[in-house]
This record gives sequence, structure tokens and C-alpha cells, in this order.
Amino acid sequence: MDKYSIAIIGSGPAGYVGAIKAARSGVPTCIIEKSGFGGVCLNTGCIPTKSFVASAKAIRSARRAQEFGFEIDGDIRIDMSALQKRKDRIVDIERKGLERLVRDSGVDIIEGTASFVDAHNLAINNARGERIIFAKNTIIATGSVSASLPLMPFDGAKVFSGEDVLSVDRIPASMVIVGGGYIGCEYAALFATLGTKVTVIEALPRILNNADEEISEILARELKKAGVKVLSGHKIISAETDGPVSVTLEGGTVVSADIALVAVGRKAHTAGLGLENAGVSVEKNGTIEVNNEMMTTAQGIYAVGDVAGEPMLAHVASAECRVAVENALGRHLIMDYSVIPNAIFTIPEIGSIGLTEADARAKGMEVHVGRVLMRSVGISHAAGEISGLAKIVCDSISDAIVGVHIIGERATDLIHEAGLALFQDLSASTLSRMIHAHPTFSETLLEAALDTHGDSIYTAKHRG
Ligand code: NAD
Repeated sequence: MDKYSIAIIGSGPAGYVGAIKAARSGVPTCIIEKSGFGGVCLNTGCIPTKSFVASAKAIRSARRAQEFGFEIDGDIRIDMSALQKRKDRIVDIERKGLERLVRDSGVDIIEGTASFVDAHNLAINNARGERIIFAKNTIIATGSVSASLPLMPFDGAKVFSGEDVLSVDRIPASMVIVGGGYIGCEYAALFATLGTKVTVIEALPRILNNADEEISEILARELKKAGVKVLSGHKIISAETDGPVSVTLEGGTVVSADIALVAVGRKAHTAGLGLENAGVSVEKNGTIEVNNEMMTTAQGIYAVGDVAGEPMLAHVASAECRVAVENALGRHLIMDYSVIPNAIFTIPEIGSIGLTEADARAKGMEVHVGRVLMRSVGISHAAGEISGLAKIVCDSISDAIVGVHIIGERATDLIHEAGLALFQDLSASTLSRMIHAHPTFSETLLEAALDTHGDSIYTAKHRG
């Protein structure tokens, strides 16, 4: 029987990062995967969607040819199968590279479905049959699956999840998206740019309900400019999927479309793991119960990433697995969730970190808010991307930055400067004393920091 110090179930951004770290620490390590190496993120999530977003942005630029000073003779036609091929090639290169990296780090990659026989023995089933391995420690990193709506079950023909919608063979003329969260908004921006008539139905009063209010308002406006219809505060009462999709909302409004995308959240993926055989408890919502060291209710068994609950983000999953590996190796690290960047790949994109203005006020904090419009900085005009806003929320007593929210070009990268500021408890005045290169989008952060004290050169001020 093969014996491992650390066995990791699931090869997503949690599992592969942890496996490399464990093997490089010199302990016998294996990673068990039943499907595509790299998990949802690499195969059907983050990477393929960003490949499509890059295609959509290139198409958008081509449509703006005249504005940028060139002409395209003839039509711009989108070839969905070519988009798919590009996406598949990227995923394939990444997957092979990653597998090589993991193997070369000394990890045994085992293909198959793992389930607990008991706390230290795992049964692995694949086409060749069943084998049992022993693991001193096991890290469960099995991710999540798309949550479905009983009214609109996924069928892969008319009703899609975020994971399978990219495999459609042609660009749908129209699409209804149920759920205006991360996935719903990212796909709304993507498909609208590709030419689909998109309607988003969100049950809560606004899309990206947890984002800073100004940011979600600007996104709603930008989506509208791209032709997306956003119906917030609406509940679905019935749905027909024979023929075109037809969704009826409370109040009687009917939304019809060629296909539907249901993006109403994700659920922990624990089916078939045999958690009960190992003494691993789950929470009421189905996620695995863990302590602040990422250990489950069973000694030596850890759970990380989506399967351990919110926030369901790839970068959080990787961080959690690093902590779990350290702890499996005998340390007692506590997972630090204090600074988590959010990156939403809408058009324009969004980067945010820390408290929203409303959250900070709800905590009883007196706040200063600095804002600067993207269009204020010269680079936005040169780049032809003037939409958006950068906003800094700081505690007015200590001047510490407590939240930063950016919508606009490069926001998903810009947010990391803000992240470092929060991580190091920097004040808005400290950030504003750092010279920022001109002309860059980073100047928006400098000016927003200055604006918390009314010092931005772009804030209108009257003399006298
Ligand atoms: P989400 O929780 O972000 O959003 C789901 C939305 O659906 C919510 O706004 C909710 O109010 C709405 N909703 C729920 N039931 C509804 C109904 N019956 N009718 C209308 N609206 C309804 O979930 P998601 O967008 O599906 O994303 C799933 C997970 O994947 C999230 O945890 C997210 O963090 C993660 N994700 C992250 C990224 C990124 O980091 N860029 C991208 C995609 C997904």
C-alpha cells in the first residue's frame, strides 16, 4: 500500500499550490484528481473565461478602429469555434505546464475519485479499479459546483451553468442571466460585447450587492451602455424552457431569450467523499466545518478552498492550502483573512478590497472618502478607456485606509497597491506622499488618496 505524509484531494488552485509546497518540504505527497487537472478555475472557470474576455476586448477594439486611427476593410465577424480553439489551446498549455510542475516537484499525481474508508485510508477508484492508500494527513480541496434553481434545472442545451456556457457552439442572439453576482455580471459584460442581447435578473435590490454601492451603480450604467438590461429586485415565479426560454417575474414581466445562464452561487462539492467515515462534520449549508488552522473536526484532516465555504475565491483557496500544509507539517498557523482583494472581470473591470463606505459607516466609523474619476488622468484618454472611478475610504480619526474600490481599466491589477496599503495599515497621507509614475492609471489611487483630504488637483474647488 502506498503511504503518504500528505494526500490532497482535488487539483484546483488550492490543491496544486499545496501539493507543490508539501512535496518541496520533503514529505511524500500525492494529489488525487478525478477530472481535468487544475480544477474548475483552470478548465471551466477563471482561465477560460478570461481568454474569452481577452477576445471580446480585442473585438471591441476592432470595432473602434476609426477612433484609434485605422480602418478595417470588410465586416468584423466573430467565429465562435475560433474563440473556443484559442481558449482550449490556452487551457491545454496551462494544464500540461501545471502537471509537469507538480510532478517535477515530487508529487505523485493519482487519477481517480477518492473517498474516505476511515480517517487515514482513502479508496481511489478509476477505470482500472480500486486501490487504497494511507495518508497521515489529508487535505480536502474538492471545490464547489454551480448551484441550480429548481425552476430552471441545468440541461446544457437551454439552461447553462457558468461552467458549461462557454462551450456553446454559436453566439446566442439573446440570453437571460439569473443572478447578478460575480459570474452573472462577468458573463453579461462578455456576451453583450460579443453581440448577445442580455437581460440580467437579480433578486436583490442591486447587482453586485456586496460591492460598494457607487461601484455597482457605475457597473449597472456601463452594462446598460453595452446594451444589457438589468432587472434588479425581481424574483422569478416560473420558467419555460421548451422552445425559447421564457421567464416570468413577480408582477407579470416575461423575459424571453434563446438561452439562460443560471449564476446564483456555488455549493461545496462533498458528494461521495465518505466524510462520515472519517468523522468530518459539515455545516448546515453543506460546507466542511474547519477551525482557524483549516483543520476539520477530524485530527489530521484539513479542508480548504470553496469546499470550506466563503469567500469562494481561487486566491483565497491557494492561501488556505498553504496554511493547511504548514499545519499538517506540525506548525500552528492561523489563516489570515484580513486583506482579500476582489477582482471582477467585467468591462470595465472592478478591483476592491476592505470595507465599503456603507460597511465602514455601519461599523460606526467616521470616514473620509476620496474619489477620482478615471477620466481625470491623462492616460485614460490616451488609452481610450475613460469610464470608471477610484475611491478610497479611510478612518477620519486615524487616517488609516480601510477600503479601496476601483472600477475601470486595469482595476484588477491596481487593487494590489491598495492591498499592500491595507496590509501595512498605511494612512491615506502616507499613500499620497508616494510618487506615482505619470502617465499611468495608478495616478487615480494617488489622487483618490489626496482627495480624502480635499487635496486632489482634480477635485473642483472654488477660490475665496
Ligand atoms: P454570487 O453569490 O456572487 O452571486 C449570485 C447572485 O444571484 C446574488 O446576487 C444573488 O442575490 C442572486 N440570486 C440568487 N438566487 C436568485 C434568484 N432566484 N433570482 C435572481 N437572483 C438570484 O454567485 P456567482 O456569481 O454564481 O459566483 C459563484 C462564486 O464564484 C462566488 O462565490 C464568486 O466569489 C466566485 N466567482 C468569483 C469570480 C472572480 O473572483 N472574478 C468569478 C466568478 C465566480
